[in-house]
Amino acid sequence: MAGMLYLVPTPIGNLGDISIRCRQTLEEADFIAAEDTRVTLKLMNHLGLKKSLVSYYEHNKASKGNVILDRILAGETCALVSDAGSPAISDPGEDLVKLCAEAGVTVCAIPGPCAVITALSISGQSTGRFCFEGFLSTAKKSRREHLESLVDETRTMIFYEAPHKLLTTLQDMASVFGSERPVSLCRELTKLHEEVIRTTLGGAIALYTQQPPKGEFVLVIAGAPEQVHDLPTADDAAVRVAELVEEGMSRKDAIKQTAKELNLPKNVVYDAALQAEEE
Ligand code: SAM
Repeated sequence: MAGMLYLVPTPIGNLGDISIRCRQTLEEADFIAAEDTRVTLKLMNHLGLKKSLVSYYEHNKASKGNVILDRILAGETCALVSDAGSPAISDPGEDLVKLCAEAGVTVCAIPGPCAVITALSISGQSTGRFCFEGFLSTAKKSRREHLESLVDETRTMIFYEAPHKLLTTLQDMASVFGSERPVSLCRELTKLHEEVIRTTLGGAIALYTQQPPKGEFVLVIAGAPEQVHDLPTADDAAVRVAELVEEGMSRKDAIKQTAKELNLPKNVVYDAALQAEEE
């Protein structure tokens, strides 16, 4: 019988955030696939656990994925961990999950620490609808294209960013979204120096021009304001009816068509057309 793949989230700062279920899964798994075995070893020591660790990270995932899959198909249970947070979210793991899913292996994700959700929750921005955009590319052209594709995005947008790239990223964002766009900079979450700076892109640029950003950041940016479309007026309806009649449509059909196009009741369009004809 095939084994299973467990996705085990680990603390993003505060070691107290490891759950009983995560600890139990790490203890019971046959082996652990870890992004960096040295980081995971520290966690295992903290938990007082000993287990066989294999490395699974960005640059060996193509070859190691199949090795891990074969072990699972042979009946072993694997617990996948990344350096911090939820595996497969801007972390190695996405490909292993795909591989296992395609091979019919059961994948079980244990809920737990995740920077994107922790940041959104305390951002003070709208949480009803949001999109996670991960890291921007380091290539200038693709990061610009990525940001431009979001210019009309009305949902709250969440980005991961490294401190040494933060200022450039904020500047790029301000040039696309405008410097008045609200942003919550969620820093060092769950750690001693946890901080949320609620400001605008312009305000954040001013701040980090004075003092270099330190620590880990999640940027939570307000979506673009909803476009308010002007509702069609009786005058619009009368103009459209006249246009359609001019093009050769019967008056009756022109009223019907206009009502449909402008999403107005037929009697409103009829009255508007009549009044225009009488003037
Ligand atoms: N899979 C992880 C998760 O979703 O929690 C994220 C891994 S990703 C490689 C690392 C990025 O997550 C960092 O560059 C930062 O943007 C964010 N991050 C992780 N821990 C954080 C923390 N304690 N405070 C703020 N941001 C954090």
